[in-house]
Amino acid sequence: MLVDSHCHLDRLEKGIDTRRLAEHLAEAEAAGVGHVLCVSVDLDGWPAMRALVDPFDEVSVSIGIHPCHVKEDDPDAVVLAQRARQDPRIVALGETGLDYHYETDEKRRSLQRERFAMHLEAGRETGLPVIVHTREAQEDTLAILREAGIEDSGAVLHCFTENWEMARRALDLGLYISFSGIVTFRNAEALREVARKVPSDRYLVETDAPWLAPVPHRGKPNRPAWVHEVARCIADVRGIALAQVAEETTGNFRRLFSRARVGQATWSSAST
Ligand SMILES: [Zn+2]
Ligand SMILES: [Zn+2]
Repeated sequence: MLVDSHCHLDRLEKGIDTRRLAEHLAEAEAAGVGHVLCVSVDLDGWPAMRALVDPFDEVSVSIGIHPCHVKEDDPDAVVLAQRARQDPRIVALGETGLDYHYETDEKRRSLQRERFAMHLEAGRETGLPVIVHTREAQEDTLAILREAGIEDSGAVLHCFTENWEMARRALDLGLYISFSGIVTFRNAEALREVARKVPSDRYLVETDAPWLAPVPHRGKPNRPAWVHEVARCIADVRGIALAQVAEETTGNFRRLFSRARVGQATWSSAST
């Protein structure tokens, strides 16, 4: 069984409803995907996202604010922690982090750093792991993680796209590394080297759907079923069976997101 450790089910298609989501999840199940973590990008959209996935027991959710969506009046760590504790379906905080690719304004970057630290504080407070997005912000990302000390609750660098040096430093801090469809891209040799070297107890697979569809689906909207292509690529790169990648990544997911009820329910309790 595979787990899609990071996707955005509420954005798979415009106006997606429970019926369409049930179809996507049935397709995922047929591809061997037994659990999905649906990741939050802002708090305004969170209630609708939570309501959409509610009928599906094998969907976990996170709560948090993407670095490109931070605002002056975001809640503080105490409030975020409180909200996270209230709902047993919430298994992580985020996605948070730093995106210096899309954000070039120094004041906004500084707000991203504050919010990132805020999520890590809420992580310490709740014991929940933190989903980290980082783009063109290596040094600041590592510095903030180091300062926060993430050993207890844990964290994952999602959609990892950097080189082995960055991976090694992240692993030294106790982070997990999650690979998306980018690992299947033709020009991603440096990333495949990371996928070859990463310890078997520290990596995950994800789609980040609807973005970043893997080969051979590039250019189409991505979907959770296609985490299968990511896992197969990693199996090739590591010279192991797909079943072993599934076993390792699902085990790692369970350890990191220990609140997730993986494989304990049928896909849909909804009568759709
Ligand atoms: Zn992200
Ligand atoms: Zn994402």
